[in-house]
Amino acid sequence: MRKIVIAGNWKMFKTQAESLEFLKGFLPSLGETPQDREVVLCVPFTDLSVFSKSLHGSRIQLGAQNIHWEGSGAYTGEISGPMLTEIGVRYVIVGHSERRQYFGETDHTVNLRLKAAQKFGLTPILCVGETKQQRDALETESLIINQLEKDLVDIDQENLVIAYEPIWAIGTGDTCETKEANRVIGIIRNQLTNPNVPIQYGGSVKPNNIDEIMAQREIDGVLVGGASLEPASFARLVNYK
Ligand code: 13P
Repeated sequence: MRKIVIAGNWKMFKTQAESLEFLKGFLPSLGETPQDREVVLCVPFTDLSVFSKSLHGSRIQLGAQNIHWEGSGAYTGEISGPMLTEIGVRYVIVGHSERRQYFGETDHTVNLRLKAAQKFGLTPILCVGETKQQRDALETESLIINQLEKDLVDIDQENLVIAYEPIWAIGTGDTCETKEANRVIGIIRNQLTNPNVPIQYGGSVKPNNIDEIMAQREIDGVLVGGASLEPASFARLVNYK
């Protein structure tokens, strides 16, 4: 049985005050959420402590958006596994396309960060996906296989989530056709040694397409940006039909 993981990625949005406001609106809707769905919120570092104090008794799992490969050291601007686990963080996004594109993340550093996440007891959510240019050049499959080969060297597939996020579908309103997302996720699954790794889809997931996305055989959850920022829309996503 593969786990269902519905995760929000808040990116660089929401102050602590705004986080508390979100929780006030969102927490009551979890009463309707089936128990077999894991609900994760990957929030900015400054919001993590607010969440760790406010989430007792709630089933939201806390996630971070980055992790360094060392436990501590002279790495200005980075955050370590022990710092995250100490405040109750369970998940961490690794290799998001925005980090690959704007912050020099490479498959090598992605691999190091994945190893660190597992070493320090966190579950990494590894993001892979192609650009529009790569898709148009029919390179989607080879690009993704290549990313997986490099990113997953010596990674334990028992403690891992993968998110297929086509870069052209992120924040554009341009969702990947659900059958196509299902097909690519099937290709990802074929590359894995553990068939039970949950594989999410990410890219313009909204209340109006969540039911169709989650009805696909290969898709085990979603990684959501914009639609996770509003209590009502994220509630609709976690309570998909
Ligand atoms: P959107 O849902 O805003 O398209 O963002 C997707 C994403 O990048 C999640 O990590």
